[in-house]
Amino acid sequence: MEKHRKVYLESFGFHQGDKVYCEVCNCLFSHVHHIVFKGMGGSKLWDFIENLIGLCIFCHDRAHGICAPGYTRLTVGQLVLAHKRKMIDFEVEYKKEKFEIILNEAV
Ligand SMILES: [Zn+2]
Ligand SMILES: [Zn+2]
Repeated sequence: MEKHRKVYLESFGFHQGDKVYCEVCNCLFSHVHHIVFKGMGGSKLWDFIENLIGLCIFCHDRAHGICAPGYTRLTVGQLVLAHKRKMIDFEVEYKKEKFEIILNEAV
């Protein structure tokens, strides 16, 4: 299993076979997406849970700017908001400063 997928599932306490839902639209999830991704800059912190969001195929495409007619790209701000809510719901500690380091290195 890829490292970021493992970090994601373990942070939320999911196990193999659990149903995992998209953090944006609640469909079944398929991808663990880096909110700030490698093309945006260099960082050693990519695989922290603060930067990893579970998305369905449709929302994952939108996060990368591939949108069906009538839909817009999901921004980093929208993804952060959805992800923070999910972490609070699952009582996973959100370390804001970690994500800020990632964000600063990406710019
Ligand atoms: Zn979705
Ligand atoms: Zn992605």
